[in-house]
Amino acid sequence: MAETLHAPYSPLIEAPDQVIDLEFGFLTSGLEGIGRMAVASEAKAETAPARITGEANRRNHLENLASAGFESFAEHGKVIDQIASVGLPVDNYNSLTLRPNARGREGVVGSWRQDMGNFSVYEAMYNTSHQERLATIAHEGFHAVSPLIESNDRLYSSPEAREKAEVHVKAVADQSLRTGIHIDGYHQRLMHQYKAGEIDLETFQEETGAIMAEKALAGNRALLTDVQERQYRKMEDLAREARVQGKPELPSKVALISGDDLRHKAQGIDATLIDLLDSVSSLEELVAHTKGLKDKFYPREDIAKASERGAANDPDKTIGGIVVLRFVDTPYFTKYKKAARLAA
Ligand SMILES: [Zn+2]
Repeated sequence: MAETLHAPYSPLIEAPDQVIDLEFGFLTSGLEGIGRMAVASEAKAETAPARITGEANRRNHLENLASAGFESFAEHGKVIDQIASVGLPVDNYNSLTLRPNARGREGVVGSWRQDMGNFSVYEAMYNTSHQERLATIAHEGFHAVSPLIESNDRLYSSPEAREKAEVHVKAVADQSLRTGIHIDGYHQRLMHQYKAGEIDLETFQEETGAIMAEKALAGNRALLTDVQERQYRKMEDLAREARVQGKPELPSKVALISGDDLRHKAQGIDATLIDLLDSVSSLEELVAHTKGLKDKFYPREDIAKASERGAANDPDKTIGGIVVLRFVDTPYFTKYKKAARLAA
């Protein structure tokens, strides 16, 4: 007899969720808490609040946010536990939501709204494995600290560290496009969408960063190593071709992740994560941290099944559509806004 905390969603919530009007639906359907929290946080931002550090403080911050849609306190607590345990900064979070999946968007498992500071998981996430749930939390958590957003400087050890992370994400996005070698099925779909002009380069870059962070944190490091090796080989082929054809030199190869020798310097997404995670200061500690997350959040049988299937090395394995709702002003969005206005 769990008491339901499910808020009365307005009919607008059933519409695709890149739509900003949806938030108005949200606000007018008894969830004003989200609006209030956003306002409160903007006011605070003017006085440059101190960074939230330490797992207990992250947890405390998340527990005090407006939340909606969770069926039980246990479910809400579990999501908070995962976000706090992953360890990425939560300073930008203003609200937590569990959303139903709109028709046609059944694959969406998580979203991050940069303008609202809203972190959402979707009901579809509960149909995925424990590993994929943790991956969703890590993926959206990385959008929430995106190195592509200058105002996120304060979440990194220095503005230069954020810039370095930005350069890295963009270089991997570029290397993926040049080689045509994707990280996973979602990355592949984004690559097609970018080439078809359906998404812009910044969106592709933003997602490339979140996908790398998700794999590095949620037990799929071997996949990044494998993709990196294949991208390197392809880059070498392309460089050879360019030399033969007298074409301009290609950019140098860029690492996605560190090598297996943990005594070496952290490379790629690992360097970014070490900078962002306050509990981790070396590659060895980062790898131990990801193992800790696995032990904490995957049931034993899941770990056994994942290694049996070799899931960690399947580059075409898709984990559902994970979206960042940062880029709300798409042609579709504009069209929907018009339709919503006409209907109103
Ligand atoms: Zn994403």
